[in-house]
Amino acid sequence: MKLSDLGEFGFIDRIRRRAESAGVRLAIGDDCAAVDLPAGELLLTTKDLLIEEVHFRRDWTDLYQLGKKSVSVNVSDVAAMGGRPRYLFLGLAIAAELTVEELDTFIDGVLDAASGYGVLLIGGDTCRSPGPMMISVTVQGTVPEQEMVCRSGAKTGDAVYVSGTLGDSALALRMMLAGKELPNKLAEKHHDPRARVELGRALAAAHIPSAMIDVSDGLVADLGHILEASRVGAKIEIDALPLSREFAEALSRGEASRDLALRGGEDYELLLTVPPDKEGPLADLARHFALDLTRIGQIRDKGTGFELVNAAGSVYAPAEGGYNHFHS
Ligand code: ADP
Ligand code: MG
Repeated sequence: MKLSDLGEFGFIDRIRRRAESAGVRLAIGDDCAAVDLPAGELLLTTKDLLIEEVHFRRDWTDLYQLGKKSVSVNVSDVAAMGGRPRYLFLGLAIAAELTVEELDTFIDGVLDAASGYGVLLIGGDTCRSPGPMMISVTVQGTVPEQEMVCRSGAKTGDAVYVSGTLGDSALALRMMLAGKELPNKLAEKHHDPRARVELGRALAAAHIPSAMIDVSDGLVADLGHILEASRVGAKIEIDALPLSREFAEALSRGEASRDLALRGGEDYELLLTVPPDKEGPLADLARHFALDLTRIGQIRDKGTGFELVNAAGSVYAPAEGGYNHFHS
């Protein structure tokens, strides 16, 4: 079916009929959505844009996975503040050739990811794009006031930890660009990353991180954001970076470089700094919940800068920072 047969309002109604809205004062259908907020909690709001040919290519991307990923990348930002994601707003600029069935597949992905995170789709905007498909997702979450974790709290002497593994998504992208077949694990990390919501909440509720961020632009760039906001430096041990088996194999075959783990984007893992007296509680929590967290370095005074060292102690300079839209 062509979208023109359905029209803007027919399309919105199709979404409205499928979106759950239990407990919401006003969901899709009025000029604004209206919700109640838990007492004593702050409202967190984040937005990410995904543009065809900039963030994804439709010939490589399954629309269902694209729908999921659009949700996950936003939810990841709420997780990085220690928050609980709750509401989703979906802005869509739709390329003319997309069929209603293709859009349904995309919405399936959005709604499946949302329900997996306990998030409700309660609004958005829909229009025609004269060119690429554009997706603008806003996620709102809440966090108890005393539990919010910002980028600015890292102190000299804190340890630096990261969840999961680094570089898998960047390696997947590199392999796709080279026309290579992807191992499942790498394909999943690239096309269907999962936001670390439960981990972020557990860490924040236990008051463990002094600062936290999600790794979306690459470890070097995102740690750089913490260092800048916290006015500190850091020493990272590159041999300590957590790598997946698939990544380590590609590394040993010479098909991946450590740079991909250091500055490749879209890992959506949590990067956090932990004061010395919280490392014990962190180890307890990690054991209890079987969390995969790796200590990769330490925060130092700002004057000592940001250093990457290998086991031999030599300083390693990554080729460049993370992804930057306005650099060529
Ligand atoms: P307005 O003209 O007031 O912006 P719209 O006709 O754009 O209203 O939207 C009507 C209702 O449908 C609103 O509640 C809006 O949030 C919702 N909506 C529009 N597009 C989407 C979408 N892509 N996903 C979810 N809700 C949507
Ligand atoms: Mg509108």
